[in-house]
Amino acid sequence: MNDTAKPSYRIATIEGDGIGPEVTRSAMAVLKEACGGNRLDFVMVPGGVGHYQATGKVLPAETLAACRDLDAALHGAAGLPGVTYPDGTEVGNELHLQLRFQLDLYANVRPIKLLKGVRSPLRDHDATMAGGGIDYVIVRENTEGLYASRGAGVLLRGEFASDSLVVTRKGTERVARFAFELSGKRGGALRDGKRRVTVCDKANILRSYAFFRSVCDEVHREFPGIDIDYAYADAITVHLLKKPDFYDVIVAENMFGDIISDLGAATVGGMGISPSGEIGDDHALFQGAHGSAPDIAGQDLASPIAAILSGVMMLRWLADRHGDEALARDAERIERAVETVLETGEHVPTDLGGKARCSEMTEAILRALA
Ligand code: ATP
Repeated sequence: MNDTAKPSYRIATIEGDGIGPEVTRSAMAVLKEACGGNRLDFVMVPGGVGHYQATGKVLPAETLAACRDLDAALHGAAGLPGVTYPDGTEVGNELHLQLRFQLDLYANVRPIKLLKGVRSPLRDHDATMAGGGIDYVIVRENTEGLYASRGAGVLLRGEFASDSLVVTRKGTERVARFAFELSGKRGGALRDGKRRVTVCDKANILRSYAFFRSVCDEVHREFPGIDIDYAYADAITVHLLKKPDFYDVIVAENMFGDIISDLGAATVGGMGISPSGEIGDDHALFQGAHGSAPDIAGQDLASPIAAILSGVMMLRWLADRHGDEALARDAERIERAVETVLETGEHVPTDLGGKARCSEMTEAILRALA
């Protein structure tokens, strides 16, 4: 099939702040090269703290509409330190939070996978070691939990502050189902090949978490071929360091998922290499796990790998949704090209201890693709 005969996809693309523009451009270049020029149409839309400073809007209506109406959304990063609302919360976070709530992106998917060529700080789990390796996925509930009350907490007389933790049956059922379905598509945990969903909570302390666990138990009955496992949020921080190969899919409340996914990212090379996808029933947004890294912005020092691998997740999501096998193969090729570049060690990004610039990493990956 030539390019023109294949379906094409329109991607709402928000470069955002800090390193956002450079890593987004790198991802666009690699995705276009892999898929063919006509298949992906990146529609650039504004948003982020820079835009807020210029216009008073962090997420303009046209950007929200594009993310809702086009086939998928790709985002660089949003946020600048010190730019806050009067209540002290950061403006940058508002962009993703609004998109999550408005588009109902309830599953925040964070693959934690050690790529060939990357050294894990966990010395027994390097990808090259027999029996070792790290490859699991954290599914963070993305629209409820402790962050649901963003903007609605109470601050009383400068003496008392509170935010509420929200757990609903509907919200828990759908994210648990997402996690079990994802486990069903994977090959199981590296350690024993078993398909397993681990529920991460503090069911021993709060009623809301005990409810979260009980709803996950109910959903588990629909998936007899998959094991269910439980871990308290504090205990899992130890397990992710000591036995990461035990995990297949972890489902967690919003804030716990936020915290453990950064910990997981650190075990496979850090934020600059870790992708993420925020997925709902009808919409999805993809961006690297890192923030806007203003300390290195505009210097061609950022690693584009997290953004590129987020693009890979986007292609797989589109491929699944549209039954587009060619797109799934393109995603595979990009992932292999990234791994090839990292494995040869000729170009190592700055956050992995090397000197390769964003543009050099991009060119090396483009060459590996060719
Ligand atoms: P946020 O609060 O928005 O998550 P943050 O400023 O706390 O963001 P990051 O922006 O994710 O944290 O980054 C922390 C540091 O890690 C940065 O200051 C930067 O030095 C490094 N870093 C992050 N992303 C990358 C990247 N893609 N390439 C290289 N270094 C990075």
